[in-house]
Amino acid sequence: MELRRNPTRAVRVGSCTIGGGHPIAVQSMTATHTQDIDATVAQVLDLEKAGADVIRIAVDSPKDAAALKEIRSQVKANLSVDLQENYRLAEQVAPYVDKIRYNPGHLYHHERSKPWQEKVAYIAQVAKDHDCALRVGVNCGSVDPAKKVDDYGGDENGPLLASAFEHCEYLDSIGFTRYVVSIKDSDPKNVIEVNKRFALQRPDIPLHLGVTEAGLPPDGIIKTRIAFEQLISQGIGDTIRVSLTVPNNRKHEEIEAGRKILADIAAGRVRSFVDFGLDTLNIISCPSCSRVENEAFIDLAQQVKEMTAYAKDHKITIAVMGCRVNGPGETDDADLGLWCGPNHVNLKKGPVELGHFKYDEILPRLKQELDLVIAEKSGQAL
Ligand code: SF4
Repeated sequence: MELRRNPTRAVRVGSCTIGGGHPIAVQSMTATHTQDIDATVAQVLDLEKAGADVIRIAVDSPKDAAALKEIRSQVKANLSVDLQENYRLAEQVAPYVDKIRYNPGHLYHHERSKPWQEKVAYIAQVAKDHDCALRVGVNCGSVDPAKKVDDYGGDENGPLLASAFEHCEYLDSIGFTRYVVSIKDSDPKNVIEVNKRFALQRPDIPLHLGVTEAGLPPDGIIKTRIAFEQLISQGIGDTIRVSLTVPNNRKHEEIEAGRKILADIAAGRVRSFVDFGLDTLNIISCPSCSRVENEAFIDLAQQVKEMTAYAKDHKITIAVMGCRVNGPGETDDADLGLWCGPNHVNLKKGPVELGHFKYDEILPRLKQELDLVIAEKSGQAL
């Protein structure tokens, strides 16, 4: 079956073209320490062998940027980077990559008094000078702080969409059209909704699809599959990433899972339901990347899943994140959140911090809090 596709612009990323009727590109991200050049090169090659069209590398510092230069000289893959708070790193990374991702919600942390438009104009100029595409990467865990749900009549997805539209309009207004957009959420239902709404209003812009913090396989693959099936079978989506919490030597599973989902959709092997049972226990965990502060994070995510299985019939979300960059913000909306530091795991209940605990102490503490949440949600006293 030939997939019907939205008639988007074509956006070239190195040797790969996203949108414009080109095959849906499959992406992944390295999770090695970027400054460990040998390990990062090996992982890029492994992902490329698995069929990755574009590979993202985390760059947080000038030292990472210097490592990127060396990595670039050793691989031919189409590379992309993610600018976190320091948007000025764009200049240091652009010569070595084909695409730069910026998050509108992160532009407020650095040089606070400068309007975001000036920062975007700078990033776009750097991209233009170095033959790079851009991705406007909006994420539910780090939305533009000026956009409140109440300003959108209580529409939970209003701020995400408004942020995406605003940046597209601005980039168009300055004549930079070589960009794709992603709007990610950890809830597949929201991913389906926001991307459908975005595509309805801007069918011309290529969309990068993903369920952020989808978690451990197989659940992470199932959540992602449900979102992708609903979108791609309606012509929405030009590039995808399946974000999985897997150890470094299994990162290629993200590409394999993505390719399998695309092949199944093309063959009409689509599940008939949309509901992923989010009325049950939902464990979300980040896919891990070079920012992971302790490798024990991957095992911890698995242990959390096993330990909490007894609560499977309760509508509770537990988030497990690998670092302090995105961990604190992206656990705010979960009933219980854990974000991992080098020696301790920080425990949160919604946005409230409950303290930090050693890796071998966190599970019993989490269980205590989980029992409390179950009792609160069922209206019982413990
Ligand atoms: Fe990487 Fe941190 Fe995000 Fe996990 S939470 S994917 S470690 S940036």
